[in-house]
Amino acid sequence: MVNLKRNYINGAWTQTGNGATSEQRNPADLSEVTGVWPKASVQDTRTAIEAAQSAQPAWGRLTVYQRAEYLKRALGSIRERIDAIADVLTLENGKTLAESKAEIASAIKEMDFQINEGLRLVGEVMPCERDGVLAYSMRRPLGVVAIITPWNFPFNVPCRKITPALMAGNTCVLKPAGLTPGVGAAFVQAYDEAGIPPGVLNFITGSGSEAGEELVSNPVIKAISFTGSTEVGMGIHVKASRNLTRTQLEMGGKNPLVVLSDANLTEAADSAALAAYACAGQWCTSTSRVVVERSVLDDFVDMLLERVKKFVVGRGNDPRVTMGPVCGEAQLKSILDGIERGRAEGGRLRIGGQRIVSDGLDKGCFIEPTIFDNVTPDMFLAQEEIFGPVLSVMAVNNFEEAIEVANHVRFGLASSIYTRDLQKALTFVERTDVGLTHVNLPTALKEPQLSFGGVKCSGCGLPEAGHTGIEFFTEHKVAYIRYR
Ligand code: NAP
Ligand code: MG
Repeated sequence: MVNLKRNYINGAWTQTGNGATSEQRNPADLSEVTGVWPKASVQDTRTAIEAAQSAQPAWGRLTVYQRAEYLKRALGSIRERIDAIADVLTLENGKTLAESKAEIASAIKEMDFQINEGLRLVGEVMPCERDGVLAYSMRRPLGVVAIITPWNFPFNVPCRKITPALMAGNTCVLKPAGLTPGVGAAFVQAYDEAGIPPGVLNFITGSGSEAGEELVSNPVIKAISFTGSTEVGMGIHVKASRNLTRTQLEMGGKNPLVVLSDANLTEAADSAALAAYACAGQWCTSTSRVVVERSVLDDFVDMLLERVKKFVVGRGNDPRVTMGPVCGEAQLKSILDGIERGRAEGGRLRIGGQRIVSDGLDKGCFIEPTIFDNVTPDMFLAQEEIFGPVLSVMAVNNFEEAIEVANHVRFGLASSIYTRDLQKALTFVERTDVGLTHVNLPTALKEPQLSFGGVKCSGCGLPEAGHTGIEFFTEHKVAYIRYR
């Protein structure tokens, strides 16, 4: 049973919140309450932090091989329960079951990679100026770290952060997004089943403004790994800095896909449709702008429209469905507001734009896949993350203008270019202001062996995944040892 409706503190599923609760509802049918979760108080949050603090010295003194044994067992437990976890993911987030399984599969790969990365936690040995002195550096855990995660990848994001944090010898307090507590609980359950020592991983559900604020301002917390909106991330950065708490912030995006006139338009259109509408457009690396050379604009938009018409929107657990609901009422409202604003400022709506209330979908948060064209660089549609199935098409006259338009946003997470021209492709890679870029691939592609994070208002601090994933959770110490 994954929906435990309890918090996990010091190795026990605990009732927190002094009776304060929040209801989680199915985004495919808001009349269905899928769980009632405690709202951890400030005191509950402190109790979780204290449990983590007590557990850290012993956990940090285990060898990495011993720590890896616990994590491998947790990974085994996740592998055995993919279907059950996918059900909870689809129930709480709304994405299709296929998307939920893909998210878990990706989390498994990341976890596997980061466990092994932890076994290679390297320092440096350097030649020394003095004779008979050995000089080297080593990596140490930071202590207690806070993990604050969003609802859009509620399984993969905690996994990507917690695995390196624990491998490095830290202990953690996880606060998942209020919309997806059951997925967080399913993740923690795997560690419980793996026999993780009490206090090493703690889990609290509660509001950002209460539990989240306490995590961010408590001086015991030595690092905060956060994924979520730019506004909340910036606030965390300011508060954490008062205690010199390290932060890793993965935030919003407004990711451009550039299509040049020499591109393979079929592949480019497939890529745009995939990365704009998968998970109902709620990927941080979703394509939200396509920047197209004018000479191929009409053909390209026609190809996009053709693909969009094929989406089947409905409940994520229906196997015929290719796009689920957006995640909850607030999200539904904010996306519909964004569409209205785009219309009012002169974006031309080419398809979609409405909430879907037909075919028994009236109780859920369903939105038609939407395309605007005639979007110009300073419009809201070009500048702000709508975080739903809404794509803005922007026309440019040439390659130079495409780079300018692509970079003309405050965000810098992902980008892509479709072209057969090697010179233009590599020039784009050089000049695009993002943390991850692509050539002839969707904006959303990532693999575990390389770092993942944004620049500008999309990211701050060392990025997750790859080598930097574990680097963030360690400090360096150097030793000089005279032996002669
Ligand atoms: P959010 O509203 O910023 O919330 C993220 C997390 O922060 C949630 O757990 C939230 O808790 C918590 N929180 C809210 N206020 C807080 C506070 N004052 N102090 C501490 N914690 C607080 O983001 P979201 O709506 O869940 O996620 C969508 C956003 O995440 C989008 O902007 C998307 O682009 C971004 N994202 C980025 C990446 C990336 O890697 N760059 C990946 C995925 C998503 P509550 O839920 O309880 O409010
Ligand atoms: Mg939010």
